[in-house]
This record gives sequence, structure tokens and C-alpha cells, in this order.
Amino acid sequence: MGKTEGQKLEEKLCYKIKNIGMEKPEEIEKAIEFCEGYKKYLDNAKIEREAVKYSIEMAEERGYVPFERSKKYKTGDKVYFNNRGKNIILTTFGKRPLIDGVHFNIAHIDSPRLDLKPNPLYEKDEIAYFKTHYYGGIKKYQWGVTPLAMHGRVMLKDGTAVDLNIGENEGDPVFVVSDLLPHLSQQQNQRKLADGIKGEELNIILGSTPIADKEVKKAFKLKVLSILNEKYGMIEEDFLRAEITMVPAQHAVDVGLDRSLVGAYGQDDKVCAYTALMAELECKEPEYTTVTVLVDKEEIGSVGVTGMAGDMLLHYMEDLVEAEGERVRDVLRNSLCLSADVNAAFDPTFPDVYESNNASYLNRGPVLTKYTGSRGKSGSNDASAETMQRVISYMESDDVMWQIGELGKVDAGGGGTIAMFIANMDVDTVDLGVPVLSMHAPFEITSKLDVYYTYKAFAAFNK
Ligand code: MN
Ligand code: MN
Repeated sequence: MGKTEGQKLEEKLCYKIKNIGMEKPEEIEKAIEFCEGYKKYLDNAKIEREAVKYSIEMAEERGYVPFERSKKYKTGDKVYFNNRGKNIILTTFGKRPLIDGVHFNIAHIDSPRLDLKPNPLYEKDEIAYFKTHYYGGIKKYQWGVTPLAMHGRVMLKDGTAVDLNIGENEGDPVFVVSDLLPHLSQQQNQRKLADGIKGEELNIILGSTPIADKEVKKAFKLKVLSILNEKYGMIEEDFLRAEITMVPAQHAVDVGLDRSLVGAYGQDDKVCAYTALMAELECKEPEYTTVTVLVDKEEIGSVGVTGMAGDMLLHYMEDLVEAEGERVRDVLRNSLCLSADVNAAFDPTFPDVYESNNASYLNRGPVLTKYTGSRGKSGSNDASAETMQRVISYMESDDVMWQIGELGKVDAGGGGTIAMFIANMDVDTVDLGVPVLSMHAPFEITSKLDVYYTYKAFAAFNK
């Protein structure tokens, strides 16, 4: 049976979006295997400090050494720069000189969560609690009645750093925000969803036994302090020198009978961090020097000394370029950047917020996002046609399946990434990352094929 003229014309002219599982079923096994390392990364990198520490371990195993200013490096040399333990830059020196530009690949390693307030500990009606202040965009009601783990760092008075981690290991206790029983929720049920659990109701249960001494006024709070003191040597004042955060205690798991999906906390944006990191670690002698950056603070606007809106990367680039005697602005102008961040996967249960021709779908590969932002593209980096062409050609040259996508319908909402901050440095930039279901929830979903193909896209970029 021959094709009709119309069919031939359709084949020649029309853009077809494909499902990787349908086109390349043989890739599924490879994707499942690749994601075993990814799940391990998720469990070991729930907060940015842990992500940096674990990434450095992985890098050092593969021969990366700390970057030294004004040292001459040669093709294939691998270095890293640890910025305050909360963000990391990795470089593999390429065949071309720096003046030809570098290939940036930038993902973020902070995720939405419940941070403790500076003075967090209190007791109420014979239960000890932490007060929290949420970090990033969360739907607050999702954080009740889910087991939470405590992570973070306390600086003791004498300058000793103490790292906390409770709730992750077998046998550890976990923590929780309570919610009302349905029987008494008539009034609560009338609240708007956004207020289902309010900000000041996100209180963490810590304990319910006292120091058994009737002369003590806050015996339940004191009991918690005595345990923390025994375990970490800290006193209440030390909370004022701390960054402690509550994150879902759940470990990364397979979702679905076919095990095709990964369910875990913090996949925005550790999924792009891991895939970018693996592509960085495994590249040998890339054409262009790679600058892979795992940044902090994206979820609250990329602020501060470890966020992308600051000068941290510019300063690294100045140090990098100085050794070759070039001007950093010339290098930046010739560079290309993948802003590696997730996009919203089309959710068939909530189709109304998506425009189906311009949404990203599970299992169609990494999603190239020309612009983000809200309303009339406000707050976005709108990548040029030339930039789109360059990035697409890297993927096509390595036969990497990918898709195009916007966040959602026009005026349905919006969001941003780090793309605009890099573009502001005079670097051509576009967003490329994994589609995620239930983004910013305590348990986010990605497809293993998408994770694997995003890694392949980044590897093609680092060739
Ligand atoms: Mn993100
Ligand atoms: Mn996010």
C-alpha cells in the first residue's frame, strides 16, 4: 500500500511530536539503570549543602581538583570551585581557547521546604514544636501530615559547625505538621485551598514528654533542648546561628507498575543538577570548555552570595579567563548557556491550565523552553531564534529526542528560572530541562526516559 500524495506532503511538512517509549523502547532499560544513580543522588542531596558535598565526592572520585587561580590548564583538565559550601562550579577544559566562549550548564540545588524561624522552639499545651517559615513556592496544605526530616547546620558560639540530619536513616524518628480530623473540619473546609493550612499553622511536632520537674516552667520544650544538647552540644541560643530546614523524609522510589517514573522530594531541580553533573563528570575533551554550575536560592529569586543574580559566577569567570590573558566580556559574549531547569508536565487530570500544542509531556524527552515568565513574558529570558537553532542542533546531532513547551496557558500563572540572570551577563541562554508532575509538592514525579534523555542532551552539549 503506497502513501497518498497528502500523506507524503504531511510527512514532509508537519512537525511530529514523539513518545520515546514508542519510538525507542530499547532505551527504557538504560533509563531505568541511569535513574538508580539519580535516586541515590536525591536521597543524599535533599538540601543544597548536601548536594554540594555529595557532588564534590562524585567529582573527586573522577579526578576533579580544586580550581587554582592563574594556573595554566590544558585540554581535559578537570577542576571545581566550592562557593561557601552551598554552590559549586565544575569545569572541564576544552580543545578551543576560552576566547571562543564556554558552554554553561546551570541547574539549581535548592528546593521548596519548611525552614525553621530564627527562634523556633516553643511548647503549647504540653507538646513541643518548631515554628517554621516556608521557603519557595509551596501549596501549604500539602505539607501537613507528611513525615518530615530535619536537615541543616548550626554554628556553635565557638565557631564549630554542626550538621544536623534526623529522619533519613532506618530507625530515625520523623517530624510532622498536624491537620484537623474531617469530623471537626466543617469550618476549615470553607477556607480557600491556599489557606487549607495557613503559614502560622505549619508547626512541627517535636515531642510530648517533659523533663519531670514541676518547678520547670517549660518542661516539654526543655526536654527537646536536652536531647538536642546531648546529640549536638547545642543550646537554645544556637538556633540564632543556624540554618535548619524540614524536608520530606520519604526516599526516592519508583512509581508505577512498570517502574517508569521516579517519585521523590526535590526533583525541581536536582533532576537537572544530577543530569548536568553526570554530563560534566563524563565528558573527556570537549570542544568548548564546560562551566557546569549548581546554584542555590533559585526558589526565592536567585538572591545572595550563592544565587545566580549575584556576581559569584562572574568572579569565577574572571579568574578562569585571567590565566589566558583574555577579557571576560569577550568570552561571555561568545558563550552559550543551558539554563537547566524543570518545566510543568501536562497533567491529564488537570488539563485546563495547559495549552496542549505547547505543553510538555512525560516521556517525550527534555523540554526546550524559549521563554518563561508571566503575563506578557514578563520576567523571562526570551531566547533568540539563533540560540534555539544552536541548541537544537546539538541535540539533533546526537539523535536526542526532545520537545518544545511553555509552562502553561497564557495568563494561567507563571514562573521564572535563572535564565535571565545569565542572559544579563551577555550570554546567549535558553532553558532546557525535565518535565515534572506535581512540581513543588513534597513528592514530585518525573519520567525515567526524560531524565535519561536530558542527560543525553547535556552530554551532546558537552561533546
Ligand atoms: Mn526550578
Ligand atoms: Mn521551582
